[in-house]
Amino acid sequence: MQRILTGDRPTGPLHLGHFVGSLRNRVKLQNQYETYIIVADIQALTTHWETPELIRTNVREVTLDNIAAGLDPEKVSIFVQSMVPQIAELTVLFGLYTSVSRLKHNPTIKTEAKQYGFTDMTYGFLGYPVSQAADILFCRANLVPVGEDQLPHVEVTRFVARRFNELYGEVFPEPRAMVSEISRLIGLDGNTKMSKSLGNAIYLKDEPAEIKKKVMSAVTDPARIHRTDPGHPEICTIFAYHKAFNSSEVPEIESSCRKGTIGCVACKKNLINKLEETLAPIRERRVRFDKPGVVEDILFEGTNRAIKAGEKTMGLAREAMHTDYWKES
Ligand code: SF4
Repeated sequence: MQRILTGDRPTGPLHLGHFVGSLRNRVKLQNQYETYIIVADIQALTTHWETPELIRTNVREVTLDNIAAGLDPEKVSIFVQSMVPQIAELTVLFGLYTSVSRLKHNPTIKTEAKQYGFTDMTYGFLGYPVSQAADILFCRANLVPVGEDQLPHVEVTRFVARRFNELYGEVFPEPRAMVSEISRLIGLDGNTKMSKSLGNAIYLKDEPAEIKKKVMSAVTDPARIHRTDPGHPEICTIFAYHKAFNSSEVPEIESSCRKGTIGCVACKKNLINKLEETLAPIRERRVRFDKPGVVEDILFEGTNRAIKAGEKTMGLAREAMHTDYWKES
């Protein structure tokens, strides 16, 4: 069975952008692939090193979000990155032959450095794509479901795997990226990306009243003052959400909006109902698993499975690099 590695940075609860961009796909793929879900606490600390307590809280939240969304902890291994020592070991090995200029020219690193205001990047932040390569390769994953902005990082992983194999011998597969049909969702304010830091997100754990309030205040086409004004759905946040959660009605909504035969309030109410169809079962599962010790046990089990996979890979890597010093010949 082929393997998938995917996961999240535990910097906050997961929202609809995560659901559309990756979670939904993970749930579908868990039956076809051996699935590892990484809760990437070290990666989160490369930007949030001053607030480790926030990361700790969100390790649990993000795990719960994944299970609530439909991942079956019996089938998939959900694990904490920092508790798998082989990932740290591989990060060091991969750093031996990955050049600084390759990392500096990574477009996602450049964008994120700007976003976080890093004028002088730390060693940890600049090198996080190498650490991410170790996240993916420690279990020798074949497939990585990612958002579009993560594609340059998957390229770094492919380079890392290819180069290791050339230098020392065939150990790692060159994993393929899998981008969702809709890989990013715009924010409630019309910003290009739904994000916790921009305060424009609907969270998986939001209650119906909160969702209603958020949707009703979301930005639509500003040209529509009256119900009969012809609209431009292509610039409307609500229309983008219909595409993600109500695809069967999209042609009808598009045509009614353009003709001015549907009001924005009705269009939003329709969306609220559709979102509820997706989010109500997620909320129910969340309640079921949100019990003392349950999430912790799932993480413990998943992390142990990840460590076993990591030990096997490290054995192969050490042998290839001739660093298996204590191995009996
Ligand atoms: S009718 Fe719907 S798609 Fe058209 S502008 Fe209003 S909310 Fe957006």
